[in-house]
Amino acid sequence: MTGNRTFTMIKPDAVENGHIGAILEKITAAGFKIVAMKYTQLSKRDAEEFYAVHKERPFFGELVQFMTRGPIVSAILEKDNAVDDFRALIGATNPDEAAEGTIRKLFATSIGENAVHGSDSDENAAIEGAFHFSGREVF
Ligand code: GDP
Repeated sequence: MTGNRTFTMIKPDAVENGHIGAILEKITAAGFKIVAMKYTQLSKRDAEEFYAVHKERPFFGELVQFMTRGPIVSAILEKDNAVDDFRALIGATNPDEAAEGTIRKLFATSIGENAVHGSDSDENAAIEGAFHFSGREVF
């Protein structure tokens, strides 16, 4: 059992492909309550900081380029067991390996352009939420 909040982004590929509404519908239908949300665009510096854990990986430059190329929707979601349940809802990083019916299976196009982000721990959910939202933007 994890805590009751997680952080997500609808990534530039899914925004470009017109999937914001369908993805939010899947999220709320799965029982997540949206407690913070904004439509925004990451700067290069934002993306480098957000993904700093991956900076030695060969795909880091590509990831930063992708995540800054257009707007995203960022949100904090609330539900019992939020982190684990949301990871189950979005599916594996690579859409070819994602389970049927998951958000990435439905909307992702590749391992890099995989439609959504979901925090991987309660600690990172708190860090990532605070990176995107001030206290008065969270309800
Ligand atoms: P996640 O927790 O499922 O998002 O996966 P990771 O933490 O391993 O990776 C973070 C993000 O980096 C992924 O969601 C992808 O957008 C991107 N990424 C991961 N692996 C690759 C890769 O092999 N190539 C590219 N281009 N991007 C990748």
